[in-house]
Amino acid sequence: MDNLMKGKRGLIMGVANDHSIAWGIAKRLAGQGAELAFTYQGEAFGRRVKPLAEQAGSKLLLPCDVEDSTSIDSVFDTLKREWGSLDFVVHAIGFSDRSELKGLYADTTRENFIRTMVISCYSFTEVTRKAAALMENGGSALTLTYAGSVRVMPNYNVMGVAKAGLEASVRYLANDYGPRNIRVNAISAGPVRTLAGAGISDARHMFTYQQRNSPLRRTVTIDEIGGSALYLLSDLSSGVTGEIHYVDSGYSIVSMPVLEELKR
Ligand code: NAD
Repeated sequence: MDNLMKGKRGLIMGVANDHSIAWGIAKRLAGQGAELAFTYQGEAFGRRVKPLAEQAGSKLLLPCDVEDSTSIDSVFDTLKREWGSLDFVVHAIGFSDRSELKGLYADTTRENFIRTMVISCYSFTEVTRKAAALMENGGSALTLTYAGSVRVMPNYNVMGVAKAGLEASVRYLANDYGPRNIRVNAISAGPVRTLAGAGISDARHMFTYQQRNSPLRRTVTIDEIGGSALYLLSDLSSGVTGEIHYVDSGYSIVSMPVLEELKR
């Protein structure tokens, strides 16, 4: 199927480099005819994102730090001025102080708990509200989560709590905006080697463990996550909202390691 996204305009938030999950999604969308705008966090990332945005044929590359509401406002003001309306938004943003992505969850500080929640959870609600104001003919919003929201993953700690809040936000936002035909979903991705992923202590071991124990016996690529995002952002999923869609080689269905793993 070609040109699934022809005539649709969307915002991609969260590309840091060509390993980012948001980039895997953007490539798929651009390949299906979507017109894209990108945000970047700070000038250092901006220099990396610029050639990628150009590769995706984008003319709109805007700075945005989601800790600052005025920065988010300015992005949506620009989109309103340049495009007038919006069809979809991708939120692939997460942050927590890496010194707390190890050891005990119980030791999370109040300061980092709040900061992690604002950036990794609340920002999706704020972005979706501002995007929805431009979605006059319905639309689709997508965020990225991880299974550490529903089960304990070593060292994921406060990010797991933020992702649990993010997933609940997906359901509440889906219910708020459903009557306007704006759909809200999340992809729960298996581990991917990215900047954010590398911030979690022992990420390498988690990666290998999931490679060995997933039904597909491998981890997923950003291109595969992009394919699932394309479905959730296109009209193919017009009846789907409030969903947490696992793209994890099936890891989430397994309750014990494969037998060969136990013998080691
Ligand atoms: P990444 O490092 O490539 O992307 C994270 C992005 O978050 C970066 O672009 C960074 O600039 C942005 N960001 C952080 N703080 C921000 C702020 N204050 N304002 C604006 N942007 C900010 O890593 P990624 O793995 O592609 O992460 C994308 C999303 O996918 C995150 O929500 C992450 O939790 C989620 N996720 C990642 C994995 C994984 O294994 N890598 C698995 C499941 C879910």
